[in-house]
Amino acid sequence: MKTSILRNTVVLIITLLLVSFVSDKNNSEFTKKPRNIIFLIGDGMGITQLYAGMTRNHGKLFIEEITHVGLQKTYSADSYITDSAASGTAMASGTKTNNGVIGQDTTGAAVKSILEYAEDNGLATGLISTSAITHATPASFIAHVENRGLYEDIAADFLKIEIDVFIGGGADHFMHRKDSVDLVEVLKGKGYSVLFDMEQITRVEKGKLAGFTADVHNPPYLQGRNDMLPEATRTALNILSKNRDGFFLMVEGSQIDWGGHGNDTEYIISEMLDFDRAIKEALDFAMNDKNTLVVITADHETGGMSLIGGDFKSGEVTANYGSTGHTGVMVPVYSYGPGAEEFTGIYENTDLFEKFMKVYGFKKDRE
Ligand code: MG
Ligand code: ZN
Repeated sequence: MKTSILRNTVVLIITLLLVSFVSDKNNSEFTKKPRNIIFLIGDGMGITQLYAGMTRNHGKLFIEEITHVGLQKTYSADSYITDSAASGTAMASGTKTNNGVIGQDTTGAAVKSILEYAEDNGLATGLISTSAITHATPASFIAHVENRGLYEDIAADFLKIEIDVFIGGGADHFMHRKDSVDLVEVLKGKGYSVLFDMEQITRVEKGKLAGFTADVHNPPYLQGRNDMLPEATRTALNILSKNRDGFFLMVEGSQIDWGGHGNDTEYIISEMLDFDRAIKEALDFAMNDKNTLVVITADHETGGMSLIGGDFKSGEVTANYGSTGHTGVMVPVYSYGPGAEEFTGIYENTDLFEKFMKVYGFKKDRE
């Protein structure tokens, strides 16, 4: 009798231990909230551009490692069809504004971006782009100007906060300015390593980095940009992850959009595959780190691209285009990591900012 009670007790304890071990395993794959967010924007990357790249790559892309998908509405405050300034501002700051406006609402008041909130909350921050770093998409996360064409004013806004890493084109907007102020000297004075060569940029492992890879825009991948985007992503992740409190990094594949404007299928596909290699860097980091949320989306679709033929074996794609501009269609949001489930459903582009704030656990300055 006594031994059977003892045996039952032992069995019960082992069972309880097993149950708690198993449930613990289930809960601990990801922490509840991410320490880091990597936000990747494929400019002009509708689902067709993505599938064209997937077809060329024989039916597979790195982005397929993501676990959750949602859809976002891209229209701006003054247009059914957004531009990259209004959509960038919407995603960065949660405010619908007019086309052409960077980091301001429709009254001209500055709106605070998720990158600026991250900075204020002690996180490390970074921006990467295959266009000029002063172009509309990256600018929306750091600048506040009434017109996206004010590149030199946008460059000056990079000096107003303590961004840790930025890599992209646009050196001219910092160095060859109408006001003849050399912002590179100002950056150096603030402790940045300012480098103009990708080889040197990739060797930086800590500290603040301003990496200028072109006078204005980087060349297309097909014209010799090489692996600038995935290498810049890896370099930034290595530097930013040294901050124990976490980081926010935005990575833009800018030129999928330019291929779309040109109705140039080979331009679109090559930029799409390059962006997918940057996505791989982000997902590899997140899978290893387990405290990192990866969110991938577009600011809008470009070209009204449709696929009227393709072959997974040869990788051949036949496309038609309905426009040489942007289109009004919703674009997918792909996510992976702690908080990824927040990004499912159908919502406004401005909700991306709200979701970032929620998963980070940041408080707004004002309602
Ligand atoms: Mg862009
Ligand atoms: Zn465009």
